[in-house]
Amino acid sequence: MRRSPRRIALLALSTLVGSILVTTGSAGADPMGPSAATTSRSQPEDRESVRLVHIRLTGADMLDKVAAAGFDLEHGLRRVPNGIEGEAVVTAEQVTELTTMGVEVLGDDAGFAWSNEADGGIGIGAAGARAAQPANHDATVRVVRADWFTTKGQGFLYVEARTTEGQQADPIVGMQLENDSGKGTPFGFARTMSRFVDSGQYMFHRNLFKLDVRPNKIKLTSSTGGVATGVVSNWLEDAPPPLTANPSYKSDFVDGYRHPQQLYSRAKEIARQYPDIAEIVYLPNQTNGYQRKAQAQIGGTGQAAVVVTSAAWGHQGGNDITVDFVDRPDANLPLAVQVTGKAVVVLLATDASGAPASTAAEVAEALRTRSAGLIDRAHPYRTNEGTGIVAPTAGPVALTDFLDQKRVGAPEGEVPRGPATIPVLRIGKHRDGKKPGVLIQAQDHAREWVPATTSLESAERLVHNYRSDRETKKIVENTDVFFILSNNPDGANYSFYNFASQRKNMTNHCPDASADPAQRNSWGVDLNRNYRVGSGHDGYAGGSTNCVSGTYQGPGELSEPESKNIIWLVEKYKNIKFMMSVHSNGGQLFWQPGAYIADGRITTPRPPLGDEAFYWQSAARILSQVKAHRETVVTPENVGGSSDVLYSSAGNVREDLYHTYGIYAFGWEVGGSVYNPATGDWQGGSFQPEWDGNPELVSGHAETMEYANGIMEMFRVAADWGRDKKDPTSQLVPGAGRYSGPVDVRFETSEPATIYYTTDGSRPTLESPRYAATEFREPGQVFHVTETTTFNWFSVDSAGNIEKNYDPTKNDKRNNYRTATIRIAKR
Ligand SMILES: [Zn+2]
Repeated sequence: MRRSPRRIALLALSTLVGSILVTTGSAGADPMGPSAATTSRSQPEDRESVRLVHIRLTGADMLDKVAAAGFDLEHGLRRVPNGIEGEAVVTAEQVTELTTMGVEVLGDDAGFAWSNEADGGIGIGAAGARAAQPANHDATVRVVRADWFTTKGQGFLYVEARTTEGQQADPIVGMQLENDSGKGTPFGFARTMSRFVDSGQYMFHRNLFKLDVRPNKIKLTSSTGGVATGVVSNWLEDAPPPLTANPSYKSDFVDGYRHPQQLYSRAKEIARQYPDIAEIVYLPNQTNGYQRKAQAQIGGTGQAAVVVTSAAWGHQGGNDITVDFVDRPDANLPLAVQVTGKAVVVLLATDASGAPASTAAEVAEALRTRSAGLIDRAHPYRTNEGTGIVAPTAGPVALTDFLDQKRVGAPEGEVPRGPATIPVLRIGKHRDGKKPGVLIQAQDHAREWVPATTSLESAERLVHNYRSDRETKKIVENTDVFFILSNNPDGANYSFYNFASQRKNMTNHCPDASADPAQRNSWGVDLNRNYRVGSGHDGYAGGSTNCVSGTYQGPGELSEPESKNIIWLVEKYKNIKFMMSVHSNGGQLFWQPGAYIADGRITTPRPPLGDEAFYWQSAARILSQVKAHRETVVTPENVGGSSDVLYSSAGNVREDLYHTYGIYAFGWEVGGSVYNPATGDWQGGSFQPEWDGNPELVSGHAETMEYANGIMEMFRVAADWGRDKKDPTSQLVPGAGRYSGPVDVRFETSEPATIYYTTDGSRPTLESPRYAATEFREPGQVFHVTETTTFNWFSVDSAGNIEKNYDPTKNDKRNNYRTATIRIAKR
């Protein structure tokens, strides 16, 4: 171990001079190919007070602790079999502090030590040794994604890249992107990348650029001199074999928005018309109902106001109640209440001069206790004490549930009041629990109308094409699909008939301070914050405890019948292995993690690498079919763990179904931006786009048809998954053999699969370490092997097939797991 590389590394960190892009050759990581040689940089002056040390941490817990103590560990972190190793720039005093926290400070001659070869991107020659290292694990810049796609005749390049110095705040490390113009052409067109920070944590740099020519390679250069190159991939297929290729394929069944009654009645009709492949399953918990208590705010304003709420629902008699505050001519009369039928008359108290003398608090109390049960909730306005003297009313005031006041443009027709029973439309030729189940759950959020029509359109396509289209027949015969066309019928009715922007359900959990009728459009529970994993009740971000917030999580986990039903369904039908929670709008496709604890941005557990790869592969299939309709592209920056690409949503349904039941749980924001070649801009969607809007831009009809394509492809993903009986294969790259010096190795698999491995010679089991990504959204990690090591491992694909049919659960005699020994010559 030489001194000089350390000093250079140290100064690269401590003298971050913005925009010194002095690297003269390509160097650094190229996750898609071999890395090139490095070149030297000028050496700034030394500093004596701090030094760079190599440390080993037991795991992420300790990393959080050390980071929380203020250590900058973002430089050169890597996962190793027994924890996390990295560098820290520290004083002698801080070394002692780290040691006290349990951090292992490794000496110069530690088995895993910095070597010339390992100091990639920081110019130290030794090109010969570096050539043996396919993945430059220690570079300061890594390419995460470099994707090319076209839409409506326009090309786009999306780049995501990480610098290991990204968390550093002073100065902030910048990044520049260059691209070539095809194979063999020079890099150029330098552009600045945007730094993406979330909840105080550096995520990566990313940008979407409009380009006319497809580049072959990109080059990224950080302001501290880190360089990485990468090969550009295609995002989505340009012309996937369309589902609609068969000329007899039928589509375009839904011709307008549908309120819940229409959705449910069509679901039941489908079950009657196609009894051989369809049936209705009723969810056991009725909703709390499209219904409200009848209310009025009377007696004056401010401290004199009384908020009155009926005991009965409006449609069950609450709307017939009248309340009258009456003054009387005589002096010193007590407060009294008279009830005749549904007429409540409050005889206000009088003072010595005969003037009204009852306060709002007194009148409220009298109504609660002396109205013969007609009024069970009466209180002063908001947080007032109700100290004002109540004024007499001009006559009886009728209470109302406000549900008769239809919003302008609401559909005609009778809206049933009261609790609803939600039907699930189940479609499949073999509904015996043996085929993979797919749950399509639309409209958790009431105002999202396109998800409901998209789901209905998919159901129609299944039943109408079953007999005539081979691909559809394969879906129906190999899957068991459950459609919940609207999981929030109460809120959806409110959205259609009363308040178009309603998001939550209709349950009012609010205390008196938020219970006056002026706040009625803000009541309800956000059903997609009401689940049990990564919930707001557990401290995760993105769910509110405020009952009038748009993301109110409810008084407890699964407090709402709508969320209880989903859990009931997946527990009853254990063959459900796929789920799509369909939302609008945004143009995103999500999976886990979907929530984090804001302090430290600690996400729910990330899916193993095999699941992550399977999600990406499925997403590309689904979104390619969406694109096939009218070239709508859901961009790669909008695909992935929802808390990585959008925000933390505590207690969402996907988190619960994936982590509790092992269901591949997607979330979809349909109806995102569409590229408009006429303006050169992306044009955004909306919750209720005009149904017959511009078919090339924002249109409820076009969105329904294109996203139904994607749902149909999701069924094919599930059908393929169910028929996958093929074991995965995997290999260590480079493989077993003798190496003259330290070597970088990683695993490769033949299909999306998760690898469990050991390095201590023991038999790998499901409890062994899992092969992980270098960092989230990146490929698998690289092991820097400095001494002879034997890797034992096996791989498991997304359908549960295990490589070579190995049984990791019991110590069978065959022990046919994979093994490879990397022999390193002693130095
Ligand atoms: Zn939504």
